[in-house]
Amino acid sequence: MKSKIIKFPETRKRILIVNCFFDEMRFTVGRNTQVPQAMGPVYLAGAFSAHACDVRLYNEMSSGPLEDEKLLSWPDMLVLTGLNTAFDRMLHLTAYARTKNKKVIVVAGGPAIRNLPNLSKQYFDYICLGDVEELQQVIEDTFGKDHVSCRMSPRYDLAYWMTHFGYAESSRYCNFKCAFCTLTGEGHGYKKYDLEFLRNQIIGLGKRREPIVFIDNNFYGNDRQYFLDRLELIKTLRKDGYIKSWSALVTNDFFYNDNNLALVKDAGCMGLFSGLESFDLEWLRSVNKLQNTRIAQIEMVRKCLEHGIVFLYGTMLDVTRRHLADLKRELEFIVDNSEITLPSYLSIIVPILGTPVFYECLEAGLILPSTKLRDLESTTLCVKPLDPLNEVTKFIYEIQTLRGYRRKALLHSWRFYKRYRSYLSNFQMIVALSNAVKISYQITFNKTAFPNSLRSRNRRRTHLSTTEILDRVYKPAFRVESIYRNYFKPTLLTDETGKISKELESDIFQNRCVSRKSGQIQ
Ligand code: SF4
Repeated sequence: MKSKIIKFPETRKRILIVNCFFDEMRFTVGRNTQVPQAMGPVYLAGAFSAHACDVRLYNEMSSGPLEDEKLLSWPDMLVLTGLNTAFDRMLHLTAYARTKNKKVIVVAGGPAIRNLPNLSKQYFDYICLGDVEELQQVIEDTFGKDHVSCRMSPRYDLAYWMTHFGYAESSRYCNFKCAFCTLTGEGHGYKKYDLEFLRNQIIGLGKRREPIVFIDNNFYGNDRQYFLDRLELIKTLRKDGYIKSWSALVTNDFFYNDNNLALVKDAGCMGLFSGLESFDLEWLRSVNKLQNTRIAQIEMVRKCLEHGIVFLYGTMLDVTRRHLADLKRELEFIVDNSEITLPSYLSIIVPILGTPVFYECLEAGLILPSTKLRDLESTTLCVKPLDPLNEVTKFIYEIQTLRGYRRKALLHSWRFYKRYRSYLSNFQMIVALSNAVKISYQITFNKTAFPNSLRSRNRRRTHLSTTEILDRVYKPAFRVESIYRNYFKPTLLTDETGKISKELESDIFQNRCVSRKSGQIQ
């Protein structure tokens, strides 16, 4: 048999891909047990030819802020991705890398870049406004076609943080339009992946004992046949030893049909996450989360647990539409009800850029003065609430550790354990009760995560965007060129009067005419 000769390009390029991240508790720690972990860098790495490029990944979510001078001096190309709040972190890393190597090419993508193309063009060499595959074109334009991978497969071999769970993805985006969701703001339709691509991802993860987490925004989707086909594929791969168990994110319509629970259980599903957000039907309607209003939610959770599947969910506390008394009643209702799991996190409503909620808050003048992009996370109040500010920030401070509900939460866990111990395995019970553990140890964790180093809450925080402290990372970790000093100033969403800041005006009010294709700075 004739062996294939691989021709290496004359110059191998050094590529560093970083998931940029700000810690919600404003500490400089990595959260290596958070689930799910960022997988953007792993998929982006697949765009580079392994023969022509040395690729390294860094995940700030699991490893903490990237401040390693040697690593930041290394790349020919720095690729940055991250959530809306991570924009300033992208600027910090750009300043570090350009200080160390003037010729480094900086490419940025992700929701913040898509929402702020005009601002982003001022800082980065390339901005990607589309899907991860767009990076292939950027590579071809900068290094040539021979540096592009012919098949874009996730580089699990580089994902050093993927120790506890394996991650795979079978679809993109969502077929619902909740008013607060970043996907609604971006306006994509639900997109299925080819089954062969999914098979290759799972096989690429190797034969694992740990569960695989499907990180789709909506694993259920709007194509029943595709849902059934994926379950068949999962069952086959389970028989072949590639999957022991798995979990996924599904929308509430999955639970309309009881048979779905039996189907996923039969395929090895151990847990489902679904965005319940609230038990208040009126509020759900007000944010267009109509799919959550059709069936009784308590019964839905109970049925899921009785099928031997852990039900996980988050709760959204909208202080702009609901009074504190109402929200507190809902929390009481949750901790008093041992038929359901406790929420994995309690989120304050955030006006995420580009979403209907963002524009509603903007038109109503609800966004607080001196709100920074970095503040748009779920533990900082960025909008005017119905109740007095001091009462709301006190509430936000207290719910970080469920203060006032701890005793009830522990009692809830005991009752929950007695009710469901015959339905759930030990591992599932640990997952289901992990929130109560957080409360009983009275340590503040980030959502479901244990940080690398356990610390008590950050007591300097005000939980109010106008006065909130900046993270330590806004101070350069080492000397940067003076021309990059302003990269460490926080990007303001609103000025001190509450108006959209000058630098974001064009993006917030006019960005609809900007091409959604990548573009080099002109
Ligand atoms: S169902 Fe979930 S993913 Fe889909 S639009 Fe609503 S919040 Fe977003």
